[in-house]
Amino acid sequence: MSTFVKDFMADVIAKNPEQKEFHQAVQEVVESLETCLDRHPEFRKAKILDRMVEPERVVMFRVPWEDDRGEIHVNRGMRVEFNSAIGPYKGGLRFHPSVNLGIIKFLGFEQVLKNALTTLPMGGGKGGSDFDPKGKSDREVMRFCQSFMNELYRHIGEYVDVPAGDIGVGGREIGFLFGQYKKLTRKFEGVLTGKGLNWGGSLIRPEATGYGQVYFAEEMLKSRGKSMKGMRCVVSGSGNVAQYATEKVIQLGGKPLTVSDSNGFIVDEEGINAEKLAFVMDLKNNKRGRIKEYTSKYPKAHFQATDAATFATKGNPIWQVKCEVALPGATQNEINAVDANNLVKSGCFCVSEGANMPTTPEGVSVFIESKTLYGPGKAANAGGVATSGLEMSQNAMRLSWSREEVDQRLHNIMINIHENCRKTAEAYGTPGNYVNGANIAGFLKVATSMLDQGLV
Ligand code: NDP
Repeated sequence: MSTFVKDFMADVIAKNPEQKEFHQAVQEVVESLETCLDRHPEFRKAKILDRMVEPERVVMFRVPWEDDRGEIHVNRGMRVEFNSAIGPYKGGLRFHPSVNLGIIKFLGFEQVLKNALTTLPMGGGKGGSDFDPKGKSDREVMRFCQSFMNELYRHIGEYVDVPAGDIGVGGREIGFLFGQYKKLTRKFEGVLTGKGLNWGGSLIRPEATGYGQVYFAEEMLKSRGKSMKGMRCVVSGSGNVAQYATEKVIQLGGKPLTVSDSNGFIVDEEGINAEKLAFVMDLKNNKRGRIKEYTSKYPKAHFQATDAATFATKGNPIWQVKCEVALPGATQNEINAVDANNLVKSGCFCVSEGANMPTTPEGVSVFIESKTLYGPGKAANAGGVATSGLEMSQNAMRLSWSREEVDQRLHNIMINIHENCRKTAEAYGTPGNYVNGANIAGFLKVATSMLDQGLV
């Protein structure tokens, strides 16, 4: 590690103790930026990077709610408004018991650069709560969302900050949050994305992250004269991102072999086809069941239990399934160095990240050194927020585009992001390194905008 990175990180760690995911996200970016900062002394002079790692604003609040038995619970809500240099803050809300400030800051920081890559005018933010929607009734989830919005509404707005979904926040939660925002403000506006189709949502938004992740993989494969056709794909997660990544792989003629949840994964050597995927979607989105149940319906598949708490240290056995393409879509740090080595040794040569920061720094090094086609989350999963941006455009115009139109725009955006990352990596002396490409390209757009706008 260079002295510059060491000194910069020592400061970040001292100022933000205990926020290890945030340190991890910042370090990766700072390591990518050294050459760029050498070429642009004006960014160093204006302390752009120092300003970028400090959120513009952090809001933290109490979320009290009552369960169906009348018992009272108190959760913590937060919203990190990270950077508004290129547009209103934009980024999802995560409801998961593991949520803490360090995780929301890592996600918000990544979001700033990701949104810059989309070509759309969106700043970066992220929020959430340590509330666990699992096992709660719809009415409990509604009461929680209403209480969460009772505070959040003061801080957001169509031109201020536009949240969306993330882990634990899907269409149901966005509906309850939007309803309460409207009740409190008396405004029907595009304040959230991922809305229902009847009330301002965009076609293809639910599909966008997973579809975009696979479009990005397809672009990387093309660069080596290959395509998704016939590729054995290991998909992790079985939520929003994983479901639609699986769908797109099927559409492009690939063979998805796995899906997972926090209890384990299923392997179906015959491949998950459209009918089996429909079963997974119903199981997860309507019945809110566990992925293990797949094997009762399709007995030729098998289930392996895993312990999500030990992924970063002990590894995640899903990555031992032999494949050519890996599509992580569950959560951060689900691929460590051992997993990355297993993947590379078994013939996997393309990794496109749907989840945010699913690979540990040591795992990333394995991919880079082995010349694996490695698309980091902030580039490969940017299709979700890009389509949220398209939802904002449609709301502002009071029009809705067709499915084909939105999908075409999404596809073009992913092609552009891939090209931008590829060219930037090359221009800065590291051809083929999409991590550097994404970090530098995103940074340049935000940094120049910050310079233009003065010291604010
Ligand atoms: P969902 O809540 O819809 O699904 C998450 C999936 O990952 C579930 O299968 C869940 O299993 C599993 N999972 C969550 N946490 C863990 C954990 N700690 N260990 C193991 N498995 C876990 O979320 P999304 O699909 O929306 O998000 C998945 C990833 O994609 C996240 O990293 C998110 O930040 C990222 N992302 C999402 C975008 C979006 O548009 N939704 C946009 C860009 C990135 P279980 O059901 O057991 O909890």
